[in-house]
Amino acid sequence: MKPPEVDRVAASKAAVAARRARAAVKNAVVDGTRSATDVVHAGLADQGSAEGGLRVRELLLCLQGLGPVRVDRTLLQLGISPSKRIGGLGRHQQPKLLDYLASREHRASGSATTSGARAASPAPTRLVVLAGPTAVGKGTVSTYIRENYPDVRLSVSATTRAPRPGEIDGVSYYFVTDAEFDRMVAEGEFLEWAVVHNQSRYGTPREPVQQALDAGKSVLLEIDIQGARQVRASMPEAVLVFLLPPTWEELVRRLIGRGTESSEEQARRLATAKVELAAQDEFDYRVVNSKVEDAAREVVDLMNIS
Ligand code: 5GP
Repeated sequence: MKPPEVDRVAASKAAVAARRARAAVKNAVVDGTRSATDVVHAGLADQGSAEGGLRVRELLLCLQGLGPVRVDRTLLQLGISPSKRIGGLGRHQQPKLLDYLASREHRASGSATTSGARAASPAPTRLVVLAGPTAVGKGTVSTYIRENYPDVRLSVSATTRAPRPGEIDGVSYYFVTDAEFDRMVAEGEFLEWAVVHNQSRYGTPREPVQQALDAGKSVLLEIDIQGARQVRASMPEAVLVFLLPPTWEELVRRLIGRGTESSEEQARRLATAKVELAAQDEFDYRVVNSKVEDAAREVVDLMNIS
């Protein structure tokens, strides 16, 4: 039997109001006026509330640096279905989600004394891949990390491109010939490698990375997006970070301002950057490079070692 018209109108009004209320909860999490933990507690206390009706997936998507790929992977790890609402979380799911949120909030606060923090801090993240469009400042951020966070090992790539002024062989890159690069590929010496900007080849030597990981060190790879995808495929535990420019105009300004490439090369790199920006949703975290030291700090925070 169909409900009377008046009931249907009332139901649809109530649905709109509920959606609005859930949107308000999400906005509060996005702008930082409410913590995700607080929202979960409210949703568990009252299943019929806006918080109780909010899907866990939507809540996680409000958290800084969490893209859809990372959120779905996290839900899988927590054993929570993407359609699950906070109010409907099971007895075992509730503490798992709260633990996860507490460890994130603990990391974000940069403090060891956040209330409710677990006694044991989360396990360090060993392998972090920093990628992003050309000229976004990956090199500057990774150099800052090398100089200021000695606990992080930075992988030195091999490349067939010529050194720029000031670059040092063995520090900036291993500058190798095409023949040497061919040999390294043939002998499986690379963890990943790619042709970047349709021009030179770049690759991460596998051995030093493996040695550092075996020694319990955290390793940072600053590589292009094709390389990041290869690392994800061969080492799924790696955390992928996408570095973003504050705006597209700023990215163009940084590329032109660097003045190290010909205009033909600049055009080629900008074309690559557009394609690269479109890949950001594949990454676990996004970090905006407005200030180098802040971006570096955010990347290092993801390693849980500082
Ligand atoms: P550049 O020539 O400006 O130093 O670097 C060009 C691009 O190559 C940058 O996007 C940089 O991240 C990338 N790159 C540097 N080393 C590697 C590497 O070992 N593997 C891959 N796939 N890309 C790299």
